[in-house]
Amino acid sequence: MSDCLFCRIIKKEIPSKSAYEDEHIYAFHDINPQAPTHVLIVPKTHLDGVAQLGVKDTEIAGRLIVQAKRLADSLGLKSYRLVFNSGAEAGQSVFHIHLHLLGGRRMTWPPG
Ligand code: AMP
Ligand code: ZN
Repeated sequence: MSDCLFCRIIKKEIPSKSAYEDEHIYAFHDINPQAPTHVLIVPKTHLDGVAQLGVKDTEIAGRLIVQAKRLADSLGLKSYRLVFNSGAEAGQSVFHIHLHLLGGRRMTWPPG
């Protein structure tokens, strides 16, 4: 989608700080980090969010989670949090599905 912020980041039309890239996924550091490590893991194919996931998306959804885990390992994080915000009321502000990897500080529960 030409007007989607994360599609434009994936196409390198907008700069970002890369954390990982392959043919399916791009991961980059959040511009407004909420923890010492805050990386967004994004599929290269546009999907608005978790609410739009179907069975056909099982593989890419799994890839996001497995890659988040691998990034956490490579960054030396022993504890971390993975977050999908789904819908505006849950805090989703960019409607291109993304998984937040947050780590490097103590987390509280429940989230706000
Ligand atoms: P969410 O609120 O779950 O939709 O997450 C969107 C995230 O994208 C927020 O944490 C923003 O800080 C982050 N973000 C917005 N614009 C950029 C950008 N240009 N580069 C990196 N991260 C961004
Ligand atoms: Zn997009």
